[in-house]
Amino acid sequence: MEVDGQRLRDDIEANAEFGALDGEGRGRTVLTGTEANRRAREYFVERLEDARLDVRVDAVGNIAGRWMPESANPEVAAVAAGSHLDSVPEGGIFDGPLGVYAALEAVRTMRDGGVKPTRPIDVVSFTEEEGQRFADGLLGSSVATGHRSVEEALSLTDGRTTLEDALDTAGFRGKGRIDASDWDAWLELHVEQSERLERAGIPVGVVTTITGITHCDAEIVGEANHAGATPMSERTDALTAASEFVLDVERAAPNVGETAVGTVGKLDVRPNATNVVPGRVEMGVDIRDVNYEAMNEIVSRARDALDRLEAERGVETRFDREFDLEPTDMSDRCRKAAHEAAEDAGIDTVDLHSGAAHDTMRIADVTDAAMLFAPSRDGISHNPAEWTEWNDCAASTRVLAGALASLAR
Ligand SMILES: [Zn+2]
Repeated sequence: MEVDGQRLRDDIEANAEFGALDGEGRGRTVLTGTEANRRAREYFVERLEDARLDVRVDAVGNIAGRWMPESANPEVAAVAAGSHLDSVPEGGIFDGPLGVYAALEAVRTMRDGGVKPTRPIDVVSFTEEEGQRFADGLLGSSVATGHRSVEEALSLTDGRTTLEDALDTAGFRGKGRIDASDWDAWLELHVEQSERLERAGIPVGVVTTITGITHCDAEIVGEANHAGATPMSERTDALTAASEFVLDVERAAPNVGETAVGTVGKLDVRPNATNVVPGRVEMGVDIRDVNYEAMNEIVSRARDALDRLEAERGVETRFDREFDLEPTDMSDRCRKAAHEAAEDAGIDTVDLHSGAAHDTMRIADVTDAAMLFAPSRDGISHNPAEWTEWNDCAASTRVLAGALASLAR
């Protein structure tokens, strides 16, 4: 089996034109239900039909093209692969589209190579993985996995328009629900979005675990006062206390584990005036790791840090863990299929974890799922400078095709 790297490239380049940005790099902005999104969806459907797949669009705009070769039994569960076609504002051209068009190229490759799967194969694009218009992210896959109902999803709004209206306008509100639990297995190829593969000089990563995410809301209350008339010894400065907290979170992560990360990404300082001692700071904390215990340990150290600040600085504090998603392990048999496919093709792989969330997180809750990564130049993503070499796109697609062929047999 040889993938057609040029055919894959042509599809990704054609898709890159929708919502394309002027300026440096290859940027695009493709938010759900916009004109750019409509054109990207239409092109995808055309390419599925060109490959003689049966296209289905569900009620939230998820798209699946089914390959049902004569060798396949229509009664057995399909295997599926894909990703997403939406982007962040001013995103890159590979994040999402690589996985969608690699899945299509894998099917074309299998057919060209005379592979005879016994299971149907679905090529999938999920609606709004990036969560930039209607939801926080993983929108279409949440519906496909039953985490969110169709009705709830359709009533989501960007402040002016509902998802239902946006999909109607784009002509992509279909019927029913693509149900990921019907699939026997799922694979997603995605750009790595960090530098480990590039540094190792290896074209394909096999994901072991997708990190869990905790979001915490922390608040420090001191006393707002005159910046000129309040002596240093008589202040209860919420921002200097918050500064210690930010550094404590930064120190906690590497102490707890090699893969753990902790970020205070948001500060809201009040009254936020140059001539006033800050009286109140609200902070948003993001904690991730492949090990849930480690995530809990960072949370507990963050709480300890606030207790210490209460004692040492006389501030009052509040801490809420408001969002929590445990790490998701990938399926052993799907990972094995990927490793064996790479070995057959003479392509090197390395095991690594995913620090970013992906639709596969949701799908892994309802069926066996795994992810492959392709190298990201300088680790850059969500940026017009995002780049994956075309030969790496082809190599990772070759592994995807081999793994799909073995899972569908
Ligand atoms: Zn993505």
